[in-house]
Amino acid sequence: MSAEIFNVADIFGEDVFNDTVMQERLPKKVYKEIKKIIEDGGELDLNTADVIAHEMKEWAIEKGATHYTHWFQPLTGTTAEKHDSFISAPMPNGKILMTFSGKELIKGEPDASSFPSGGLRATFEARGYTAWDCTSPAFVRHDAAGATLCIPTAFCSYTGEALDQKTPLLRSMEAINEQGVRLIRLLGNNVSKKVTPSVGAEQEYFLVDAEKFLERKDLIYTGRTLFGAMPPKGQELDDHYFGTIRQRIAGFMKDVNEELWKLGVSAKTQHNEVAPAQHELAPIYAQCNIAVDHNHLVMQTLKKIACQHGMKCLLHEKPFAGVNGSGKHNNWSITTDDGINLLEPGKTPHENTQFLLVLTCILKAVNEHADLLRESAADPGNDHRLGANEAPPAIISIFLGEQLEDVLEQLVSTGEATHSLKGTRLKTGVESLPDFMKDATDRNRTSPFAFTGNKFEFRMVGSRDSISGPNVVLNTIVAEAFADACDRIEKAEDKEMEIHDIIKEYAIENQRIVFNGNGYADEWVKEAEKRGLPNIKSMVEAIPALTTEKAIALFGRFNVFTKDELESRAEIKFENYAKAINIEALAMADIAAKQIIPAVMNYTKTLADTVIAVKEAGADAKVQADTLKEVSKLLADAKKALINLQKVTKTAAGKEEGQKQATYCHEAVCPAMAKLRAPIDELEMIIDKEVWPMPSYGDLIFEV
Ligand code: ADP
Ligand code: MG
Repeated sequence: MSAEIFNVADIFGEDVFNDTVMQERLPKKVYKEIKKIIEDGGELDLNTADVIAHEMKEWAIEKGATHYTHWFQPLTGTTAEKHDSFISAPMPNGKILMTFSGKELIKGEPDASSFPSGGLRATFEARGYTAWDCTSPAFVRHDAAGATLCIPTAFCSYTGEALDQKTPLLRSMEAINEQGVRLIRLLGNNVSKKVTPSVGAEQEYFLVDAEKFLERKDLIYTGRTLFGAMPPKGQELDDHYFGTIRQRIAGFMKDVNEELWKLGVSAKTQHNEVAPAQHELAPIYAQCNIAVDHNHLVMQTLKKIACQHGMKCLLHEKPFAGVNGSGKHNNWSITTDDGINLLEPGKTPHENTQFLLVLTCILKAVNEHADLLRESAADPGNDHRLGANEAPPAIISIFLGEQLEDVLEQLVSTGEATHSLKGTRLKTGVESLPDFMKDATDRNRTSPFAFTGNKFEFRMVGSRDSISGPNVVLNTIVAEAFADACDRIEKAEDKEMEIHDIIKEYAIENQRIVFNGNGYADEWVKEAEKRGLPNIKSMVEAIPALTTEKAIALFGRFNVFTKDELESRAEIKFENYAKAINIEALAMADIAAKQIIPAVMNYTKTLADTVIAVKEAGADAKVQADTLKEVSKLLADAKKALINLQKVTKTAAGKEEGQKQATYCHEAVCPAMAKLRAPIDELEMIIDKEVWPMPSYGDLIFEV
């Protein structure tokens, strides 16, 4: 660890080709052109692109860069890159030049055939393009490969279909911009030019010791433990949450922050999370597509720096059964270019027509498309959180808090909201402490979609997943609700009256989605069923939401996805799910057959020898003999479950790829895995720790 002192303000963004760098380096005319495109959209002409590419290359070379890459986000869940060096073909004198053209900046051509396309492309139809997203700044990344200029790009097929996470996200941002501007114009705002979604993603993660990690094949192959008995102590004392950060972790966090700051990621908050060895990092929110890119950088940086500190960062949603899992809270709001947050209620929300219209539109959007939001948070790891025995629940509902719920109730019961609850003074009861004003609303941690002051917090997203999908859905469903409202207001003679009617109507029609109670309680499940809210428990049950007529109409209307693209995405998700479960099942069988069962068999031999020796010595060998019986019984159970798991895994492999295979994995392979795990976790509790072939939960989460 370096002890050098640095000023954050000096290093922040030093590896980013940001506005300051462009202003300094680009000719005025070129700077103005690119700035206009970043703000208003449009196409860059090749001459301008050449000038920018040249300056970008010079700047990157000064930072030590030898290569550039189009950095993109295929449907694998992570990012992809192919590196090209800046060198030109050798000249007659044997020397080379370092070159980078405008064409190379704005367009790349990676082979698309090896990325998931969900049937959109046949293997021989290989052509795919990456296109520069100039609204997300390029950066230089330093690692073992040296320094690389990374250019954020979107990835499309030869025929123009999106093969990535970024293309639909940018399309959805255009949709909400267009409809948002339309809406504020109708409310009398003729000044703001643009409406942009802002996102802040809180990232949860676990850290474990690298040496112990390497002794666990399940962690290596699947990112989560497939076996493991609970240690005597878990998270029941709540002593880890916000606890003092241990020195080893603090050193790690320091390096993570430094690296992220250099990359222009505004890492802001860090703390210990609920579970032992679990932590969280949150940046300051940013424009939606930049926040998505930054979240990828956060995940990659956490992993990289953990290795440098002799640790491994686990981003899986449920690395340890029985211990709190990890998620990613997606904080979302919509802001105009002149800084008006459309989700800011002000002190008296009942008088704030714009806020009430936006809010009730969001109620409508979420109520009508709860299935799509749920789907956007589905990934194989998240199945262990959503709808399982931990939070948030799989049922989408909205928490508004006392103040807004009260306003809504007034609207529903009388058609008119006349007052807003106010925050009261909080009395600390201590003379020397100041009393302060409380918020008008408490928080509710159990809600999957909670209003938190001036933003919505979507809490279902998995810790490992890209936040792109959830934001594509949020942006598009809200764009639709805005568009529907605008259609009506534009046609109405008395616009003010129509706005008033829409607010009232949407509030009444979408009441069922509002729930301020405890989302973890069993009663809520029953109540939600009565209200007709979907309770989609698993990823395989969630995926079909992508291809309903409702979804096809929604995404088609705003040019976010075509029907083909939606079908391909559903296909990819089913395939990804089946692959993930297949890997877990194979890893589990491998570990059981080659590590655990042999160790237990050896142990039974030791026990048997002990029984004989104790008897020969003339003592009572009952405890030894009983233990032997118990262990042998569990061993037999484990062997039987292993044979069954191997059988169903084979059957799964023979199924038709897609929904059928994924459903079989969910319904037959997952339960078979649980059956194998049960006797083995019991064995771990009985057997001598010295002979157990891998570190325990206790070793992993309490000894980092
Ligand atoms: P917590 O919910 O844990 O108390 P914070 O209030 O610190 O967290 O906010 C969490 C995240 O929400 C941060 O990334 C923060 O930047 C982001 N955030 C704050 N305000 C907004 C906003 N208006 N729009 C989007 N994200 C926001
Ligand atoms: Mg939060």
